[in-house]
Amino acid sequence: AGTLLQNSMSRNQSLFERAQRTIPGGVNSPVRAFRSVGGTPRFIERAEGPYFWDADGQRYIDYIGSWGPMIVGHLHPEVLEAVQRSLTSGFSFGAPTEAEIEIAEEICRLVPSIEQVRLVSSGTEATMSALRLARGFTGRSRIVKFEGCYHGHADSLLVKAGSGLLTFGNPTSAGVPPEVARETTVLEYNNVGQLREFFASLGDETAAVIIEPIAGNMNLVRATTEFLDVLRELCTAHGTILIFDEVMSGFRVALGGAQALFGITPDLTCLGKVIGGGMPAAAFGGRRDVMAMLAPLGAVYQAGTLSGNPVAVAAGLATLRIISRPGFHDDLSRRTERLVAGLVEAARAAGVPFAADSIGGMFGLYFAERIPKSFAEVTQSDIPRFNAFFHKMLDAGVYFAPSAYEAGFVSSAHDDAVLDETVARARAAFSATAS
Ligand code: PLP
Repeated sequence: AGTLLQNSMSRNQSLFERAQRTIPGGVNSPVRAFRSVGGTPRFIERAEGPYFWDADGQRYIDYIGSWGPMIVGHLHPEVLEAVQRSLTSGFSFGAPTEAEIEIAEEICRLVPSIEQVRLVSSGTEATMSALRLARGFTGRSRIVKFEGCYHGHADSLLVKAGSGLLTFGNPTSAGVPPEVARETTVLEYNNVGQLREFFASLGDETAAVIIEPIAGNMNLVRATTEFLDVLRELCTAHGTILIFDEVMSGFRVALGGAQALFGITPDLTCLGKVIGGGMPAAAFGGRRDVMAMLAPLGAVYQAGTLSGNPVAVAAGLATLRIISRPGFHDDLSRRTERLVAGLVEAARAAGVPFAADSIGGMFGLYFAERIPKSFAEVTQSDIPRFNAFFHKMLDAGVYFAPSAYEAGFVSSAHDDAVLDETVARARAAFSATAS
């Protein structure tokens, strides 16, 4: 009977069971475990264009794109060729290369607020290093983040608002020392009054404010222009470093990122995802006088064995060159808008309360009447209905993010046929979830 059961089990299921023996929870990053939607994670074997295939041979239209990096689709021939060429010259040197200069020049050209840039290997490293730099530059300790924004898993950033409203944050993870969390204040996204109140009392002792100017980690939520304008003004007035975390929005909502859309110049910017084209690369950069504080020039230490890895830089450069071509983002926006409009119409036809939003190649789906403006509003959406929709779509070969708190991503490989197929599948899924 045991053998029979074994044979009838899908490969995804048996791989998941095997994975859990040697990997905590069976995954190397928690959201992959499907905990919030339930069910068995799919183990991916290969990907191409807008698709990937799991261990049972099922094909999916992929709307997570490795959580953002795969903006030109999987296995794009130009990126593949650049990676293959780089690989035959060696994997890692621990010494500088010309390609690192090229990607730095490209980043500074595409994001003009970045006068100098340092490469790292993950978004977490980028935000963690940017915070240390801001603290070193200002000689202050306190930092501010906003509820619902995610900036990676450095201690100072795994913090939620404490009961002392404007002052002390509390850890959101065991292992984060309370004294570290206390240096982080968590404010509400898009709450201008609270922001002013905070700066009036603690602005002068605040090293940095870090924000996702277009948030993609509480589903998709846009900052308002007023909120970002006030934030920029207050940071300038109080000598506080404004850090835009554009790890997700960078190169994705527009070629110059959210800062280009809003016309706001941050002091520092964090980048990741797209700049590695699917390989581990990320970066932080900005004002020349601030970046001059970094080792080896200045007193703020920061380093990395694999920083500027030649293979990752080759993938990133090839990706940046493709997305820099005229019309790339207009076309990407049009595709994303087509998807979102189709889904909204399909939900309406099925009588399901639903709203959706998109900016560039990023979208948000909300099982709610309106597009949310804060984390609190996102939590009020119909999460059980999202979960049911997610599974119906998964069974139909469409892979959305396995959580109602994540944004989705369209690539330039998602053509109209793929988008329309998605909408057709969604019609049936919405109908099945309508009560
Ligand atoms: N910042 C933002 C806005 C992100 O979306 C993420 C990851 O999703 C990070 C930082 C952390 O990046 P990484 O997962 O590469 O450490």
